[in-house]
Amino acid sequence: MSADYEDFDSFLERKGNPPFFAYEENATSPLENHDLCVDKQFLQNYVKTDDCDIENYVAKVVDLLKKLPSTSLKLLDRLYSGSKGTYEFLKMCIKDSKDNSSWQDSLFRNVKQVKARKNSVKGLDPLKSVRMIFGEGGILQDYLNNYEYRQEQFMTAMEIAETIDHGKGLLLEAGTGTGKTLAYLVPIAYNSLSKNEKAIISTRTRTLQDQLINNDVKILKNLPDLEKLNVTVLKGRERYICTKKLFEELQLFNSMHSSEELITFLGVAIWSFLTKTGDLDEISIKAQYKDRLVTDRFACLKKFCTFYDRCPYYIARANAKNSDITITNHSLLFNEAAIRLADGETDDEDSDGILLPKFDILIADEAHEIENSITDAMSFNINPYSIAKTNKSTFSVIRELLKSVKEKADNEFLQAAYERAKKIGSAIEDNLKTMVIFGEELSPGERKSLKSDKLEHFFDVLKETENLVRKLKSLIVQLIGLLEDIQEDEDSDNPALTGLKLRGQTQLGEINEILYNFLGFETAEDSYIHYFQKVTKGDSRYLVFSASPVVNESLASNIFPEVRTKIFISATLWVHSKGSDGFNYTRRVLGIDEQFPSVKLGTSFDYSKQLRFFVANDMPAYAPGSSQYLGNGADFVKDMLEVTGGGAMILFTSYRDLNIVANTLNKKLNDLNLRIQEQYDSPSAILEGHMADDKSVILGVRTFWEGIDLPGEHLKTLILFKLPFDRPDDPLLDSRIRHYGTKNYVEGLHKYYYPKMITSFRQGLGRLIRTKNDRGCVIILDKRIVDPKKNYSRKLVNSLPPEMKIEILERKKIITQLRKLKKEKWL
Ligand code: SF4
Repeated sequence: MSADYEDFDSFLERKGNPPFFAYEENATSPLENHDLCVDKQFLQNYVKTDDCDIENYVAKVVDLLKKLPSTSLKLLDRLYSGSKGTYEFLKMCIKDSKDNSSWQDSLFRNVKQVKARKNSVKGLDPLKSVRMIFGEGGILQDYLNNYEYRQEQFMTAMEIAETIDHGKGLLLEAGTGTGKTLAYLVPIAYNSLSKNEKAIISTRTRTLQDQLINNDVKILKNLPDLEKLNVTVLKGRERYICTKKLFEELQLFNSMHSSEELITFLGVAIWSFLTKTGDLDEISIKAQYKDRLVTDRFACLKKFCTFYDRCPYYIARANAKNSDITITNHSLLFNEAAIRLADGETDDEDSDGILLPKFDILIADEAHEIENSITDAMSFNINPYSIAKTNKSTFSVIRELLKSVKEKADNEFLQAAYERAKKIGSAIEDNLKTMVIFGEELSPGERKSLKSDKLEHFFDVLKETENLVRKLKSLIVQLIGLLEDIQEDEDSDNPALTGLKLRGQTQLGEINEILYNFLGFETAEDSYIHYFQKVTKGDSRYLVFSASPVVNESLASNIFPEVRTKIFISATLWVHSKGSDGFNYTRRVLGIDEQFPSVKLGTSFDYSKQLRFFVANDMPAYAPGSSQYLGNGADFVKDMLEVTGGGAMILFTSYRDLNIVANTLNKKLNDLNLRIQEQYDSPSAILEGHMADDKSVILGVRTFWEGIDLPGEHLKTLILFKLPFDRPDDPLLDSRIRHYGTKNYVEGLHKYYYPKMITSFRQGLGRLIRTKNDRGCVIILDKRIVDPKKNYSRKLVNSLPPEMKIEILERKKIITQLRKLKKEKWL
């Protein structure tokens, strides 16, 4: 199709009716000055099809829109504020609809419950199926184009199948490139069907959950006997839209709302008629609108909600219960574990106790990340800055509530309530200011322990604040009660009152969350550490006070005791250790016993041919903040990039080092496009830009050390600026080192601090070679990696695949090597 925009009339004349559609291959802002064109971005965001061909895409969109309830024309007329072309297009499709149900009844009508399997499938043999699928000349080779038999994948699948068949659990290191996702999906799937057992797969991120369901599960379901397998994705409550909130927002809209708001909510309404999940990750909308469409566990009405039967979150939970396999993420899994520990086991759906179904098998992928997920799930956080915001918005809600009940309530009561709210609000503000003084000494990014004398004082302020917040809460509850009385008396649906009640309930949700964290912080056991940190976000800095568990033993040993088989998988669980199987560090941080079985499998890559590994031995010794190291490092990076060009990534461990190097490069490298990560930048936006630009160089910190997939030309040069040691003076890290060092601090370094760094290093290194055809160079600037006097360096080098040959050279010689590789077109 033509890449030009066309006006409505001429398009119709040429194409007939339908479709009329303006399309431009690389349009970023397609509709400027083209009022008669259809807004492709709007449609692609809210009307989902997986067809790339434009003609098919348009035909499918038309087909989907024709299924919308005809009553949604009313919404269109009331809310649409975009181009005329899009309006006409939507109208043309919707008016052909034969569905006359009301739009209110049609919200999320396609989000359906799956039926539970009643019986197992007879005659399936999971071990035999795994052999037939992954073995040489097996089914996958027939089924997938370009599929190559991989011995490591076959072995991974067999280890998992055997563990599921008769084992209690397994720690499994499967090297990069083994195809481990399919290797665990297949045995779980056949086991679930043959024994009617349920499995949970936990991944590190929501994006990985989506990748699994959209890619790997599709392959899985095409394998013999698996077409009827039920697989569900379950995310946290905040990812699903709340039907009640959307309904109330749509009712309230009028011309007072901005055009952006109107068109966003119209888009969400259209999507709500079509989506099969109600998962907000399917669409892209601004956070300010998303916040208005989700509810938290405190404000949700659960079974008492009118929309409970059409609630995407509760349907997703029910589906998880009825499915053979549920794909979740570590955060949800461990939040669930934390709630179970706090509330005790309960199968009562009305409680918040059970989010996941009872299950028999747990597969935790990217298991090296679990320690952080457990820590997050078990921590209590107090953020004076956000409490101040809630305090302010609570006061404004109270004022509105007071105004709206003035006809029915006694004037004296109203006056007194107003004065009371004002007084409580300002006392809370004073207390928050006192809290902030605790953190004045901190520099941005720094974390410090709240030592006992300070902690006591902090607790006093905290308890006082908690009492004040509780008083504010009672006042809101009382005013909402009055408002409900008025609504009952009026016996009519007054949208203004409904909107206000909604605001009041949302406010209560925020207050409850604050109180939950206050209580957790105050009552945290001795196994917790209290600390505070100064977080930087954009130009603002704010303090967070946290209570976190020093070790995860209490959670890990209690977690899901009824689950018969637990398998933890990652490419980096093993750390070389004399006289042990190398999995002791992982067992330690996961809190599992020493007898827990383990297996280490290799990679399908030939690192001796695919990777060159250089260490610069004439760099100055690394020391924190050393200007000599940073200056030399920045110049060396510049010299290397001048040779290698784009397709490079430089990984740092601090923003300070990153910014110093970025300054030098910015001044001296005009031909390359530097993508410099700033705090709270989304890695996906940086990656998207990088993939579309062959002159791009990424400068990133911790988020880029793992989970980043840049195959082929997108990453040929990886520069690791320093070994990824965390700051040992970090209070949480320090407590953990001391916990594991029962004899002395050095023991703690060996048992915890060094293996942690080595795991991070292996993750960072793993970014470079992603497929069998990749080639690339890694250059390490920190010569401690080859210093024979450092215990950790031997441990680190021994933890790398033996085929990786380390070349220790002066900087000049590394540059010469890079030039040569470039000339030979190897790089
Ligand atoms: S049950 Fe809760 S989340 Fe679901 S629609 Fe009702 S209020 Fe919203």
